[in-house]
Amino acid sequence: MKWYCQKGEYGKGEVAEHAQLYRDCEKEGVGISVMKPFAGGQLLDEKTSLFKRTLTHTQCIQYALDRPAVMTVLPGVRSLDDLYTALSYVNASPEERDYSVIGEFTPASADGVRVCCSHIQPCPAGLNVGLINKYYNLALAGDELAKGHYDKPPLHAGDCVKCGHCESRCSFHVKQKRRMAEIAACFSK
Ligand code: SF4
Repeated sequence: MKWYCQKGEYGKGEVAEHAQLYRDCEKEGVGISVMKPFAGGQLLDEKTSLFKRTLTHTQCIQYALDRPAVMTVLPGVRSLDDLYTALSYVNASPEERDYSVIGEFTPASADGVRVCCSHIQPCPAGLNVGLINKYYNLALAGDELAKGHYDKPPLHAGDCVKCGHCESRCSFHVKQKRRMAEIAACFSK
């Protein structure tokens, strides 16, 4: 089976390929466990959501469970409150589970907001462009651990030499050179 996951060491693929992965798994009888159904909190805020809509925890869980072949979701919890919030899905009404608000979403809607694909690599300056963007998105979503993770690799957004290689290959037309400056300014605070 092909591997389409967009993150991780073998990360590659675009939205249409992910949809194909789900269909392939369903056809082959392979169950999928979805991790991070809130995308590290990004889906819970319209400013960071791929769908450009604020979704509730329940809507995110239902959306993930409704994908073909998905058997379970594994949300991260930082506290008992987080756990209760996730578990409120169990008693949620059909109206609360309804995520049709994202019905007009198309892959094109992701333009300019999503950068975590490995196919924009390699960066001639050696930056892990996807990871840097991922930690920035998590920081914007309020993840207090994101800066610590961002700091660990030897190269950071400030090391970008603005060659534009990643920008020219990005499927979502993210203005990466400008974004690297934005990320460097954010994490240097
Ligand atoms: S623009 Fe910056 S991040 Fe993108 S490939 Fe060039 S040096 Fe790397």
